[in-house]
Amino acid sequence: MAAALPPVILVTGASRGIGRAIAQHLARRGARVALHYARNDAAARDTLATLAGEGHAPFRADVADPAACERLVADVIAHFGRLDVLVNNAGIYEDDAIKSASYAEWQRVWRRTIDTNLLGPANLTYLAVQHFRTRGGGRIVNITSRAAFRGELTAQSYAASKAALNITGQSLARALGPDHIPVFTVAPGWIDTDMAVGALTGPGAAEVLAQHPLGRVGTADEMGATVAWLALEAPANLTGCVLDANGASYLR
Ligand code: NDP
Repeated sequence: MAAALPPVILVTGASRGIGRAIAQHLARRGARVALHYARNDAAARDTLATLAGEGHAPFRADVADPAACERLVADVIAHFGRLDVLVNNAGIYEDDAIKSASYAEWQRVWRRTIDTNLLGPANLTYLAVQHFRTRGGGRIVNITSRAAFRGELTAQSYAASKAALNITGQSLARALGPDHIPVFTVAPGWIDTDMAVGALTGPGAAEVLAQHPLGRVGTADEMGATVAWLALEAPANLTGCVLDANGASYLR
């Protein structure tokens, strides 16, 4: 009997932070990683060099651009011959504080955030699902945020994008169950990455830490382990879940 092929997994935003740790966990567990990033070639190269095993490849694309999403999925499938799992991890966090942002700035941040954090994953999902349905199934893991439930004082568009992605994943879990495409969502709290540097080192850092009963924020490595489990092993009956990964810093 032929050996099972290693799963091919597209991880968006894998050059740094949480995506990098997800790629590392997946590679250690035998997956072939399509390592996606936006523009940081050096970080993508460095991360690629840390991945265990062979056959991984980098792909550069702006997920806020629908045509770039189309090229990305086509390129991954052309390179590996297939795609088994999509991990929608790439995202941005930008202040749009309503009391200080100009109207023009408010417009720009909302548009960029929704295009990147919501429409990017939605478009990649659409494209991956067309492929999954020709192969009898696939998996999707979305990374959202605690902000979707707690709200964000100075990043309303970020919270809105993540809340919308939660319900997008849940709607798709219902729609795609019959097609053997489970859709899982993880909603992290603060995690020690570039995105969180301002919050974890700035004047509000003590207050952020005080929210965490573990006495620390989450690590990218913990996120990597969680998402690798969802991508490779989690039972299909978890489809539609939104898994809190916030160290009990916000319970709902
Ligand atoms: P980082 O800022 O550390 O890394 C972001 C990654 O996304 C990079 O790989 C970056 O690529 C990529 N990226 C950014 N914009 C685009 C774009 N337009 N198109 C394609 N790729 C893009 O983020 P984190 O690792 O911290 O966050 C990962 C996910 O986890 C995000 O969705 C975030 O919202 C979520 N999250 C993070 C939390 C935290 O505290 N860190 C808390 C809750 C949720 P490049 O290197 O090329 O710039």
